[in-house]
Order: sequence, then structure tokens, then C-alpha cells
Amino acid sequence: MRTTVGIIGAGPAGLLLARLLHNAGIDSVVLESRDRAYVERRQRAGILEQGTVDVLRGAGAGERMDREGLRHDGIELRFDRRRHRVDFPALTGGRSVMVYAQTEVCKDLIALQLEEGGPLLFETEALAVEGADTDRPRVRFRREGAEDVLECDYVVGCDGFWGVARSAVPDGRTFERTYPFSWLGILADVAPSHDELVYARHDRGFALLSMRSPSVSRLYLQVPADTDADSWSDEEIWDELERRFETDDDWSLRRGPITQKSVTPMRSYVHEPMRHGRLFLAGDAAHIVPPTGAKGLNLAVGDVVTFARALAHRTATGSDDLLDAYSATCLRRVWQAERFSYDMTTLLHTAPDATPFEGRLQLARLDRITSSRAAETDLAEAYTGFPIG
Ligand SMILES: Cc1cc2nc3c(=O)[nH]c(=O)nc-3n(C[C@H](O)[C@H](O)[C@H](O)COP(=O)(O)OP(=O)(O)OC[C@H]3O[C@@H](n4cnc5c(N)ncnc54)[C@H](O)[C@@H]3O)c2cc1C
Repeated sequence: MRTTVGIIGAGPAGLLLARLLHNAGIDSVVLESRDRAYVERRQRAGILEQGTVDVLRGAGAGERMDREGLRHDGIELRFDRRRHRVDFPALTGGRSVMVYAQTEVCKDLIALQLEEGGPLLFETEALAVEGADTDRPRVRFRREGAEDVLECDYVVGCDGFWGVARSAVPDGRTFERTYPFSWLGILADVAPSHDELVYARHDRGFALLSMRSPSVSRLYLQVPADTDADSWSDEEIWDELERRFETDDDWSLRRGPITQKSVTPMRSYVHEPMRHGRLFLAGDAAHIVPPTGAKGLNLAVGDVVTFARALAHRTATGSDDLLDAYSATCLRRVWQAERFSYDMTTLLHTAPDATPFEGRLQLARLDRITSSRAAETDLAEAYTGFPIG
């Protein structure tokens, strides 16, 4: 099998890249180890930055998002039983975010790819990338029990944190931090208790109120790193959420049947460089952020937009300039997102060994954000997204 761009992984990065290349008249083949139903069900991100929304619309993949997604013009910070709303458009010259689940983004992109795009092969596992430093890189893969080879001009590893592409970048350097806590996340069949996301700092730990639709709530609790989701009963989860969201006014938390529970570890990770020869890494294959800043999916989008532009530029002009700049261009944005995600995480979570002094510093940082327009603008600009490219 032969193609121009071999894409490993049909998460948001791989699927969007295939779509962008298709629109630019460049052919690709996507290899995905899981089956379609699994990819379409995997619950993950839910917040799309303004730039991501614009990219999806521009790629012709925004129709259902515009119909069913929820535009959010702010978030609420909750601490010391107080509530403070951060107004994004007022602070950023009109920017906002969209609540539209990653599962739905993937469903939309899969449908488009199968209808209009090149091959998207499910249950096809990439085993290795070979010859990345030659003009003919190859992906060795297994499909229906047999091994085969995809010959390419370029390979893009969009295979997430546990994929195989990264190991084909020799002499890479990694920068990493693992946090001593995780998120216990639930999906519940109940209307969200607030119409925007609520980020709560509490001495007992962080809590986040989010949503997937007007009738489905997504809520998270900070829990110790080795927590088993089933060790929490539904009632214990609701009781703890109630404690952490407590305010002095009459706000209350709506409870409903919990349909899914899972624990997400918290990690910051960057692999440099994001390119070796004709192999490029994109999305979680190259970097991970703790979900507090809602940046992971949005970074993946930035990477593949940067690659698609660079390849289209090469096709149009014969110049490798933008492909050569790919890693540095992406990493600049990646590190801003790493910084913001780290800041949000340390601002809002209670580390197991945190001292009362550190607790007071968190409150002082929150007080600063909520009383200084400059500090609040900094948060709003980062949350709604850093420019791509
Ligand atoms: C609980 C949770 C909440 C999150 N919340 C947010 C949020 O609010 N906002 C945000 O922006 N981000 C969020 N994220 C992060 C976001 O989900 C990821 O950053 C995003 O999925 C990255 O997309 P990707 O395409 O790079 O990788 P992935 O989505 O991991 O996709 C990689 C794909 O490659 C496939 N694959 C792996 N190995 C192989 C192989 N050898 N051969 C073939 N295929 C392979 C996998 O099956 C998968 O389909 C969250 C993550 C979690 C876990």
C-alpha cells in the first residue's frame, strides 16, 4: 500500500489531519488499532477553544457542532465559598469556547472521512515506523492477523501517549511531571447545576462542574493518585461534590443517576523534538497536559493544522521551510499550554503534602485573578486559546 501521508491513530489529531489534507488535495491513509465503536465512545475532552471551533468550521466539520454545541462566554471560579465569573468576550475582544464532546468531534470527522476522504482502516495496528530519515518512510502494521507495510512520503504519529511513533524519534528529550493526585470523573443524567463550567478550589481538594449537553452533567473530583473509581459509591461522590462546591448563597447541586465513572491520572509531558526526518509527531503522541486547562485536544488541533499548512506550502512552492520549522512552531504553543495547565492545576488542587501556607498562597492568587483586570485577562486569553502557528 502506498500514500503521501501515513497517519497513525484516529483520535482527534489523526482524523482532523486526514480531513485537512483531503481538503488540500493531498492523499492519506489512517491506521487505527481500535474499532470504530470504541473510538466513537471514548469519553475525554469537552472544551473547544475558539481557534479549534474556527478550524473545524473551516474544514467543513462544524455543522453539527454549531447546532448542538454550547457556546460558553465564561467560567466560574469558586473558592472560600465565593463565586467569581470570568467573562471571556469582555476580556479578550469577543472570544469564547464551545462545549462539544471529543466523542462528537470524532464521530463527525469519521463520518466525513468515510464518505469523502481516503482510507480509514480500523482494527489496524501500527507496529513500527521505519526509514524516517529516508525519503520513503514506512509504517509496518498488522491487520486481520497479517503484517503489511504502508509506504509514504511522510508519516504523522497521531497515536497518543501510548503509541509507537514516538519511539522512532532517536535522541529525543522528555520533560515530565506526574502529579500526586487524579481526577475521578462522572457522567450523570441530570441537567447541569450551572450554565457555565465551575472550577472550585477547596481545602478538601479540587472539583469541576462541566457538562456534555443540556441534560448530561460531567463532574470531577480530585482524588488520591491510586484511587479505584469503584471504591466511591454514587452517594459519596455527590456528597463530596456538594461539600467542595458549597457557597454562601442559595446555589445547589442537582443529583442524578451516574452512568459512567473513571479515574484520570494527571501528568505533564513534552517530547522534543516533534520531528525526525519525515516522521512528525502530533497531539498526545508528543505532549500531555493535565486536563485542568482543557488544552489537550486543542493542542492536537494546533499541531495538525501546522503540519497540514506546512505540507500544502511545500506542495505549492517546493520549499521545506515550514516543515523544517514544524517542531519549533508547535513547541512554542505547547509550552504555553503546559505553563497554563500547570498554573491552573497548582492554583486549584490541594497537594497531599500542602502546608497551610501554600493554601493561603492559592487563595491570594485567586484573589489577585478576581480583583485585577490584567490578571483576569491573562487567564481568559489562555483559556480561550493561544494562536496557532
Ligand atoms: C478525562 C479526560 C478529560 C480531558 N479533557 C480535556 C478537555 O476538556 N479539553 C482538551 O482539550 N483536552 C482534554 N483531554 C485531553 C484530550 O482528550 C487529548 O489530548 C486528545 O485525545 C488528544 O488527541 P490525539 O488524537 O492526539 O490522541 P488520542 O485521542 O489518544 O488518539 C490516539 C489514537 O491512536 C490510536 N493508536 C494508538 N496506538 C496505535 C497504534 N500502534 N496503531 C494504530 N493506532 C494507534 C488510539 O487507539 C487512538 O485512537 C482530556 C483527556 C482525558 C483523559
